Amino acid sequence: MSNSNLSCMRVISPNRNSPRNHKIDTITIHCVVGQMSVESLCSHFSNPNLGASCNYGIGPDGRICTIVDECDRSWCTSDWENDHRAITIECASDAFYPYAINANVWKSLINLCADICKRSGIRKLVWSTDKNTRVNHLNGCNLTVHRDYDNKSCPGDYIYGRLGQIAKEVNQKLDGPAAPFKAYQGQVNATDGLNCRTAPVSGQVLKVYSDGTVVTITKEDFGWGYTGEGWVCLDYINKIASAKDPAAKEDSIMDGKQVEKIVKEVLNRQNPVYNKLEDVPSYWRADIKELVDKGIIAGTGGGKLGLTMTEAKMAVIVKRAVEKSQDAGGTEAAGA
Ligand SMILES: [Zn+2]
Repeated sequence: MSNSNLSCMRVISPNRNSPRNHKIDTITIHCVVGQMSVESLCSHFSNPNLGASCNYGIGPDGRICTIVDECDRSWCTSDWENDHRAITIECASDAFYPYAINANVWKSLINLCADICKRSGIRKLVWSTDKNTRVNHLNGCNLTVHRDYDNKSCPGDYIYGRLGQIAKEVNQKLDGPAAPFKAYQGQVNATDGLNCRTAPVSGQVLKVYSDGTVVTITKEDFGWGYTGEGWVCLDYINKIASAKDPAAKEDSIMDGKQVEKIVKEVLNRQNPVYNKLEDVPSYWRADIKELVDKGIIAGTGGGKLGLTMTEAKMAVIVKRAVEKSQDAGGTEAAGA
């Protein structure tokens, strides 16, 4: 078992058990409550009367020291079992609440954790805000904290509140750099067409792609894509499958415009448009004819009614309501 190459100094503490009895599958991050350099950390934990140690220390300048070899168990977390399975790291921190660590320490901590994970076969750091999940290593949780095992505030609220972020940054390193950008095809989804500009946002408009045009995006810049001719806003581009797979491409073009068309058709079926009087259901036809004859319903020109089912229904309800109130008014007048 090796130590981290990121360590620049090794002063082994007598406060340890050799070897550890469990494979390394956990990391426990501590705050040392003081801006202690690696030299101070090494001498501090070398004191046999202290009865404490850690695998690694990180100084305020970001340097890392080895205090207990990884193959051995440090005396760090007030828990025999935890320290047998964990790599423990003491970080230089403020000596006051919330025991913040500086940017140098943060950066070295992320690098050190990623290095430990890689060499120990830990594929991913998993944090939980639930103590029971942490101490019982449930759901793959492999970050533990000193405060779970002893009446201590360690690792301090600054680190404690950021363990999710620490795990995220370490995992990004474990996943490797983001994949390089790959050109892809997209379909314009803009009823009025999509402007193609010389530059994102406010570049001059070179042309307008009509709705449904398929373009190839060869680079991206914060929500804008380059088509080979100019820049388009990606909010109006539906990504479609690779041209290498024609079937998938057909499907995804289908997903884009066709679904919209089908939805319109279905909606139209639920709320049909009556263009002729004969289209209107018989139970409304006389009322609608009367409204047309009186010029209240004018149609959409060319002799077309252009009336949806909902509109026809509303028109009939209003007509009948008006007639009813007129009847009631007449009765009242007659009675008076
Ligand atoms: Zn601690």
